[in-house]
Amino acid sequence: MQKTIADILAEVRAIYQELAKRPVTRSCVARTECCQFQLTGLTPQLTKGEALLAAKAFRATGRRKLPETDDGACPLLQRATGRCLIYADRPFGCRTHFCAAAGGPYARKEVLDLIRRLEDLDVRLNGDGPRKIFSAVADALDELR
Ligand code: SF4
Repeated sequence: MQKTIADILAEVRAIYQELAKRPVTRSCVARTECCQFQLTGLTPQLTKGEALLAAKAFRATGRRKLPETDDGACPLLQRATGRCLIYADRPFGCRTHFCAAAGGPYARKEVLDLIRRLEDLDVRLNGDGPRKIFSAVADALDELR
């Protein structure tokens, strides 16, 4: 049976909720330094389910199109406030690649089962595997139209 968008979003959120329950002593303090890709040299890679959830959350802010920016920061970072526009639905990488202030990144083995669930969903959605956040979310926005 074909999955609905609501099913997909619920499945991704369930994975994020499971991550939040893990007894790992790290906590994001929303400094958003990790959202400055030109500084970190790291860009989050999203599976298709994550991208669809991020796109849905972005649209819920009343926006339709990602900003064309060349400042090297995440397109989902609101420049005026310095806050993530989709924080509650931010991608898995944003939840696990914590900065030093938040306790450092998760070891892959601590979250491998959840990564596999996201990858499995990606396969079921005919995704192309993890993709950089801008193109992944831009395509997901097109798909949600
Ligand atoms: S999605 Fe949000 S938390 Fe993740 S890099 Fe972009 S602005 Fe930062």
